[in-house]
Amino acid sequence: MVLRDPDTARLACLGGEPAFERPIPVGQLYFPSWDRYEQAMSGIFERGWYTNHGPLARELEQRLAAFFGVKHAVVVTNATVGLMMALKCLGLAGKVLVPGFTFVASAQAVTWAGLDVEFCDVDPVTHQVTEETLTAALDADVSAILAVNLWGGTCRPTEIAAFAREHGLKLVFDSAHGVGVSCDGVSLGGFGDAEVFSFHATKVLSATEGGCVCTNDDELAAKLRNMRSSYGSGTPAQVPLTSNGRFSEAQAAVALMSLDDFAANRGRNERIHGLYRQGLDGIAGLSLVIPADTDHSNYQYAVVDVDEDAYGLSRDTLLKALRAEQVIVRRYFHPGVHRTVPYSAEPGRWQLPVTDRLCTRLLQLPIGALVSDEDSLQVVELVGRIGANSAAVAEALGLGA
Ligand SMILES: *Cc1c(COP(=O)(O)O)cnc(C)c1O
Repeated sequence: MVLRDPDTARLACLGGEPAFERPIPVGQLYFPSWDRYEQAMSGIFERGWYTNHGPLARELEQRLAAFFGVKHAVVVTNATVGLMMALKCLGLAGKVLVPGFTFVASAQAVTWAGLDVEFCDVDPVTHQVTEETLTAALDADVSAILAVNLWGGTCRPTEIAAFAREHGLKLVFDSAHGVGVSCDGVSLGGFGDAEVFSFHATKVLSATEGGCVCTNDDELAAKLRNMRSSYGSGTPAQVPLTSNGRFSEAQAAVALMSLDDFAANRGRNERIHGLYRQGLDGIAGLSLVIPADTDHSNYQYAVVDVDEDAYGLSRDTLLKALRAEQVIVRRYFHPGVHRTVPYSAEPGRWQLPVTDRLCTRLLQLPIGALVSDEDSLQVVELVGRIGANSAAVAEALGLGA
């Protein structure tokens, strides 16, 4: 933390200096030390092996299968491609149920797989899909559910799996937020037909870009490996289409280091999450979202709910005021996926009042490897001071209180 202007309480949006000298990002952004990175890359150079299921990709798949407690962890270019491949391999037809409150990739993967998206709403408290929200959107054309485990919490996957079985539906989880998260003592990874994890740089386990598809189904795993590439495919399997989901050795090297450091990075997230929770508790109208239904979260996100009436400013005004301080907060998710192209072409089709409401209230605060304890305390202090000066802030930002 660098307080540029420690002698004055002037907020940047009121003409003061920004509180931070450099931008404080949202997103995990893990970087190993340069020495470790160099050592890993020199091994790749010595072996002369860049990609095509090399030794590091193979080692990573074994370590991930143990980490997630599953038979197969198939590493792929990124989670979006992993979702597309999983849906394609399951041989689905018709519609797939997807929550409107998720990252666009969840729904886009369904569309890329040649299937129809049918949106459902989420629970107002946990933000997760539930049996109730799925039931409200279910019809005879639905062949599968793409459930999302959000915010380092879970959508109670055992119950969602029972619901899918009862209705004869295939089930894939978008667990891009869920690396290292467990529910009732069981790690995410083995629920449903497949679970897809993201190793994007902003996620807690990073390969810079990357992801994996976890499954306990041998046949599905063989199909995924054949669809990914002819390299490392092992058992031949018929697939409707092939793709390129290959994972490079450079990606695998970073992912292996990130896996070594996972417990430390998770612990740091938990500590910062706790500091936010404690600090925001004392500010009227703000509350930190607690990851739902998990006994072991990765605290990948610090999500604050802004009650405009009680706080005195809207979420969007708070966002502008914090950005002026170099705190690069984000509206995530905004808007609901049902309001984005191509789904917005049918504006009247989906009524998702909870999704719409959450999209106006939630803000992502900085958390991750580039955020210190002091940074998070400074963010809390700023948020309090912005709220205490709500009338002046609203006037300065021209947005009305
Ligand atoms: C990050 C993310 C994805 C996409 O992951 P990529 O690896 O970037 O393709 C999908 N779904 C959710 C919920 C995500 O947060």
